[in-house]
Amino acid sequence: MDLELQGRIVLITGGSVGIGLGVAEAFLSEKAKVVICARDAARIDSVVADLKAKYKTQDVWGIPCDVSKLKDIEAVVAFMKNTVGGINILINNAGTGSEETNMDAPDEKWYYYWDLHVMAAIRLCRLCVPLMKKTPGEGVIINTASMCAMQPLYYEPIYNVTKAALNMYTKCLADELIKDNIRVMAVSPGLVLTPDWYKTAGILSEKEGITVEQYFNKIATAMTPIGRYASVEEIAQTYLFFASSKASYCLGTNFHIDAGATKVIN
Ligand code: NDP
Repeated sequence: MDLELQGRIVLITGGSVGIGLGVAEAFLSEKAKVVICARDAARIDSVVADLKAKYKTQDVWGIPCDVSKLKDIEAVVAFMKNTVGGINILINNAGTGSEETNMDAPDEKWYYYWDLHVMAAIRLCRLCVPLMKKTPGEGVIINTASMCAMQPLYYEPIYNVTKAALNMYTKCLADELIKDNIRVMAVSPGLVLTPDWYKTAGILSEKEGITVEQYFNKIATAMTPIGRYASVEEIAQTYLFFASSKASYCLGTNFHIDAGATKVIN
């Protein structure tokens, strides 16, 4: 199937590793133009050089950005406008898990995750949409939520709450933007084997006195009927479809890719 993504301009936050990098590679394999952003500038430079070589293209850029900061977001949007020449597809993906209890977490931690998971998407959408409207072709915004937005993991209430808020923002924005030919939706991965999980597993396995591998097996068996984590590639293809004009009737929804880990019907 031709997804008609060739030449489309895509911005992926948190695109330097994990799911974001997998999504970037998927778009590049469809000959889209891709911009990735994340905080670690050296890693971005190295990843962009690798992507240019692997996909034999110059149409991939990287820009350092902390999406929890408005001025960094403004710089990214200026880069899209002045250097890349527009934006068709925005993937709000930057994020990370947390570990706390509701009783102990300080305000600062709540605010940081609110900025990272919610305000980043709000600000990027608010600043990118005017440019998206001027860029020829349909606009698409996909927010990376999480199965934890519906089914909380016990050790990360801040993560669960902020991802749930992102889902409601997605719904509200989808209603508002479809008149402008912009589709908005969310994708909710389940367990995806990325560096973020290695970080979490490192902390929690030590507390439980088990190895990281034992921790992964325990979680996958307990949470998924399929009994394993997803690879990044298994997740990335879904983003491609929803970003494609073939998904023209998909908006305002939150699509779960979790191998049945979420124990609800919706
Ligand atoms: P990784 O930790 O592997 O990658 C996170 C990416 O986000 C990196 O590129 C990181 O780069 C970037 N990032 C983190 N903080 C910021 C910031 N403040 N500003 C800009 N970029 C930032 O995570 P995953 O690939 O696992 O997760 C990607 C998204 O998917 C997240 O939103 C996560 O919540 C969600 N998700 C993941 C699941 C999983 O099982 N892996 C399941 C469900 C949802 P840098 O550190 O250089 O900034």
